Amino acid sequence: MPLTAPTPDDVIQAAARLKGVAHHTPVLRSSTADRLLGAQLFFKCESLQRTGSFKFRGAFNALSQLNAEQRRHGVLAFSAGNHAQAVALAARLLDIPAVVFMPEDASTSKMAATRHYGAQVVTYDRYTTDREALSRQFAQERGMTLVPPSEHQQVIAGQGTAALELLEEVPDLDYLFVAVGGGGLLAGSVLAAQARASSCILVGVEPEAGNDAQQSLRSGQIVQIAPPHTIADGARAESLGKIVFSLLQPHVQDIVTVSDLQLLHALRFFAERMKIVVEPTGALAIAGARHGGLDIQGKRVGILISGGNVDMARYARFLAD
Ligand SMILES: *Cc1c(COP(=O)(O)O)cnc(C)c1O
Repeated sequence: MPLTAPTPDDVIQAAARLKGVAHHTPVLRSSTADRLLGAQLFFKCESLQRTGSFKFRGAFNALSQLNAEQRRHGVLAFSAGNHAQAVALAARLLDIPAVVFMPEDASTSKMAATRHYGAQVVTYDRYTTDREALSRQFAQERGMTLVPPSEHQQVIAGQGTAALELLEEVPDLDYLFVAVGGGGLLAGSVLAAQARASSCILVGVEPEAGNDAQQSLRSGQIVQIAPPHTIADGARAESLGKIVFSLLQPHVQDIVTVSDLQLLHALRFFAERMKIVVEPTGALAIAGARHGGLDIQGKRVGILISGGNVDMARYARFLAD
């Protein structure tokens, strides 16, 4: 696994690789949201990205740089869902075999989509299995390349291209709110801001129940937590990796947290007012801007809507509650 930290230039190169492969997702506005928060909001809709989340960017960027030998042996990923789909589609586009480990309670739509893209899915118990050890052993036995969901130079660089596009379209942002799981999206966003010499303040948003990144940044060292229970299933990471931490620590203003109830309200707002389907994790950024306690009055604020993959039955319950 490459343990090199990516640079702003890696994000620019990733953008070139993704051109014509990833969607250039739209930036939506909402005057109702602006009024509610007293700010000018710019919603970067990665819920409309291929496979339904920004994760396609990092996965394709990483897989497209494997050599012929690595491609022949295939790739392996462990993921609760969005990274799984992203690796599965990127692998199919590049004609690389893929195996994905998913927790047995992962969203059925995410599991079905991962199989649909052509990956082999292997399930495990998220509360009793050391998934990293399991998949590393599997990768070693079969000579497959492990593609981590965040702690990887080219994955982080790829994720950064979403913020890069937003900063190119809206160069004078004061703030950018970004969901944090393993921290790859926020780390890539840090590099994108550097690549565009933006003075935009970066704020990470985590679920209350899983605030390991907040604890890590505030204490100055990586903090590990137990698997958190939250509806934000894309942000159940238990700790940041070293590369991610090294990028976040000096450049992220703060990490704020939001409750599951605040995420539910945001989902409803997106559906009712903006007519977009957003998954709970994808609503972290707006909930953080609204409830995170930072003074954004009158500011120009980027909101990275990170994904839109949610089982329809579950989504219907969220909206009805
Ligand atoms: C993975 C994911 C996140 C968190 O991204 P990290 O790079 O792990 O911090 C946020 N939102 C969605 C929809 C995701 O799939």
